[in-house]
Amino acid sequence: MAYDSNNIFAKILRGEAPCVRVYEDEHTLVFMDLMPQADGHLLVIPKEPAETLLDVSEEGAQACIRVTRRMAIAVKKALGVEGIHIAQLNGVAAGQTVPHCHFHVIPHEKGVVLRM
Ligand code: 5GP
Repeated sequence: MAYDSNNIFAKILRGEAPCVRVYEDEHTLVFMDLMPQADGHLLVIPKEPAETLLDVSEEGAQACIRVTRRMAIAVKKALGVEGIHIAQLNGVAAGQTVPHCHFHVIPHEKGVVLRM
């Protein structure tokens, strides 16, 4: 399916919609989730227009995974949580709601049940 450049993350990347930016480099942008499942819930997205991870270039995918791992390490240390949930959904059937590839980094305390 063709990439929808009107999706909210594309607007955030173009600076047309607000977000709380946490980190940015050549290939990725990291910002706070608007409806966090836990304090410190981050989203890591590639800057390239790609609906799912299956559409991202090899270079973009490697950058996303590298940054997602770094964010998970930083969040775990900063918040002192027991675990970090990393989620990445591809396609509406899998539960993806925003059609721009993204990785969730969610601090996870024991016993808490997340929505994904
Ligand atoms: P998905 O269900 O597609 O895996 O996750 C999409 C995520 O994007 C959800 O966790 C949702 O809270 C977040 N989200 C949706 N709209 C916005 C927005 O406008 N700004 C930010 N920062 N996050 C958003």
